[in-house]
Amino acid sequence: MMTWYDDLSPCTYFDLDQPHGEKLLAVGWLERGHPYPQGSIARAVQTKLVSLCENPWEPLTFLGWHTCDRCLPTERRDAVQAGEMTVPMGNENLFIPGHGLLYVAPSLIVHFIAVHGYQPPPAFCAAVLACPPMGSEDYLQAISSNGPATFAKWVRETPRKIQ
Ligand SMILES: [Zn+2]
Repeated sequence: MMTWYDDLSPCTYFDLDQPHGEKLLAVGWLERGHPYPQGSIARAVQTKLVSLCENPWEPLTFLGWHTCDRCLPTERRDAVQAGEMTVPMGNENLFIPGHGLLYVAPSLIVHFIAVHGYQPPPAFCAAVLACPPMGSEDYLQAISSNGPATFAKWVRETPRKIQ
C-alpha cells in the first residue's frame, strides 16, 4: 500500500533523522479516494521516465513496496509494460533533481500515466527531461548538490561502478 501525498508537497516518507521539508517534493503518490490531475503528457517525457525507471538509484536504506490500489488491490505485479520497455514496478522510487530540490516519485508513476491518465506537474516533467542518465556521476552529483544533506550522505554511501 502506498502513502498518499499531494503533488509537490513535502514528501516525508524518507525523513529518517531529520525532515527534508521543501527540499524533497512528492510527485505521483496517488491513492484511491484522492483526486489527481489527468491529461496527456509529452511523449518525450514518458519515454525518458520509463528509461529512468529501468534501474533507478535510491538510498540503500529504503526498500519498501508500493502497489497500485486502483487496479491491483491484492495481486502483486513484478513489472509493467510501457511501450517496448518493461519496468520493474512497485519496489522502487525515482529521484529527479530539480533546482535546489529533489522530486521523488514511485516508479509506479509510469503505470499511473499509462493506465490511469495521470498528468504530473510541468516542473517535474521539465526536470525529467533535464535529468542526467540514471546512476551516472552527473546524476549522483545533481542529487547531492540539489537535495537535502542526508541525500548527499546517501550518495557518498552508494557503491560506484569500477571504471
Ligand atoms: Zn493501476
